[in-house]
Amino acid sequence: MAKPIIMTIDDEPHVLNAIARDLQAHYQKDYRIVKASSGTEALETVQEFKRRNDPIALLLADQRMPAMSGTEFLEEAIKLYPETKRVLLTAYADTDAAIASINAIGLDYYLMKPWDPPEERLYPVLDDLLSDWLASVRVPYDGIRVAGTLWSASSHNVKEFLARSQIPYQWLDIEKDIEALGLVEATSDGRPQLPMIFFPDGSALVDPDLRTLAEKVGMSTKPRQPFYDLIIIGAGPAGLGGAVYGASEGLRTVVIDKDAAGGQAGTSARIENYLGFPLGISGADLTRRATTQAQRLGAEILTAHEVTGLRVEGPYKFVTLQDGSELSCHALVIATGVKVRELRVPGIEDFVGGSVYYGAATSEAVHYKDKKVVVIGGANSAGQGAMFLSRFASEVKVLIRKDSLQASMSRYLIDQIEATENISLVVNTEVTAVEGKDRLEAITITNSKSGESKKEPVDAVFIFIGAVPHTGVVEGVVELDEAGFIYTGQDLIRDGKRPKNWKLRRDPFLLETSVPGIFAAGDVRHGVIRRVASAVGQGAVAVSLVHKYLETV
Ligand SMILES: Cc1cc2nc3c(=O)[nH]c(=O)nc-3n(C[C@H](O)[C@H](O)[C@H](O)COP(=O)(O)OP(=O)(O)OC[C@H]3O[C@@H](n4cnc5c(N)ncnc54)[C@H](O)[C@@H]3O)c2cc1C
Repeated sequence: MAKPIIMTIDDEPHVLNAIARDLQAHYQKDYRIVKASSGTEALETVQEFKRRNDPIALLLADQRMPAMSGTEFLEEAIKLYPETKRVLLTAYADTDAAIASINAIGLDYYLMKPWDPPEERLYPVLDDLLSDWLASVRVPYDGIRVAGTLWSASSHNVKEFLARSQIPYQWLDIEKDIEALGLVEATSDGRPQLPMIFFPDGSALVDPDLRTLAEKVGMSTKPRQPFYDLIIIGAGPAGLGGAVYGASEGLRTVVIDKDAAGGQAGTSARIENYLGFPLGISGADLTRRATTQAQRLGAEILTAHEVTGLRVEGPYKFVTLQDGSELSCHALVIATGVKVRELRVPGIEDFVGGSVYYGAATSEAVHYKDKKVVVIGGANSAGQGAMFLSRFASEVKVLIRKDSLQASMSRYLIDQIEATENISLVVNTEVTAVEGKDRLEAITITNSKSGESKKEPVDAVFIFIGAVPHTGVVEGVVELDEAGFIYTGQDLIRDGKRPKNWKLRRDPFLLETSVPGIFAAGDVRHGVIRRVASAVGQGAVAVSLVHKYLETV
């Protein structure tokens, strides 16, 4: 813990210097002594300390100051530091104000001027107060703090991004934590915009976009060069697999993701079927290992950068990033995966990111301790989500449209769900309505067989209902199937004919798209088995085909 602060405030310079000198003489070994010459200046300094999360042990303020009296200052300061000891320095004439403050602001002591000799009239009192403070103080958290509300979608996005990037942070819920509310109000001139992110250097970001946040936390957000041998779009298992093989085989490789690295797998609480991890591995852990491995081998990973455009000029491929910049390469791998299909129920969009979540939202589960949550969907991802949530929530209801999980979920997960007391399965159902004010309060569940509807109070809904491909950016460049998945290899040959505009005298390679030198890997491909191992394998195979392609250009 940084040295705790003792702050003294007085508008009369000779009094301020005298008390500061006495404080230095006795306390400077264990405390930092800070002076301020007015209540307003002191309040600004206190706000700055709060942004850094520096501990303040004691505030010693003169009562009689123009603009802001000592009591007025303490009243404001303790909103940010409710546990700090407060002492008022008074003249005899101000005794009444001091006594009134004992109740009004919980004043710990009032000290009459002059305080000579300090050994008798100052130090014994302050020693007592400081030892009290030391006995009760909580060690302040000295990392990144995110302040917001559980119901705010942008707070959720920031937390997810930090959690998925393995950046530790402390969550401050301003609806439950009065100190955090004070900090937010003090930093926002009364019109708080959320979330606010406080950094140990005292700076703060207000509702930042992910790239600004990524830059601030020291992640790589700028490409090192304008041209690469291999650009991979998407840092899920397929993209990271490609990055490991590409970089280790000597290709100048960059992998770009609009979010944190890890893709869907990164949101999984426990992947149990990936080879080599007999006890399973969390998506976060797998991502950390994979990104470290890819970077150690020389791949660049750019996160919080969406690829918004793609064009081909001769043998070169150009990708446009959201900030308008362009990177080019010899070969490109599209590994943009899929996202969860949206649930179409009127009004649900108002709650997304705050009580309605797509996917596991592992950073949020902990906030639903002892609450009732609903999981919608019957595939493995829903099963894993339900198992994870059952560790926190008092009740997890899994709603599915079919009449059993048999056809859609792996046996090991069905067994786990059946053996978990606080999970129940509701079959043949659909959510047909949602309601709530600031947050979701209830859903209406309709039985598709009987047509019966029933309202259920819930605290949160986690949705896992199938996938749509992330292919908007490549539409019109490579051939897609009706659902938007990318055709590759032999799927492009129809009636023995190669794709339109294909000029080479060979068929497309196994994972090659309808454009030579552009490959696709993982869930984004047409007809693929959607698994972590399968995506990683395709990332590796894509790289071997990139080598073959490069031999021809
Ligand atoms: C909750 C959950 C649990 C799962 N559990 C398992 C399991 O236990 N076992 C198993 O085998 N499989 C599991 N899966 C499936 C597995 O995670 C996927 O098959 C795998 O992640 C697919 O990898 P991918 O790299 O192809 O795509 P994704 O993982 O979808 O990654 C694609 C990446 O591309 C990025 N991207 C998309 N568009 C752009 C763009 N325009 N610009 C930049 N970046 C972009 C996305 O942000 C994303 O990070 C699970 C899936 C989920 C959702």
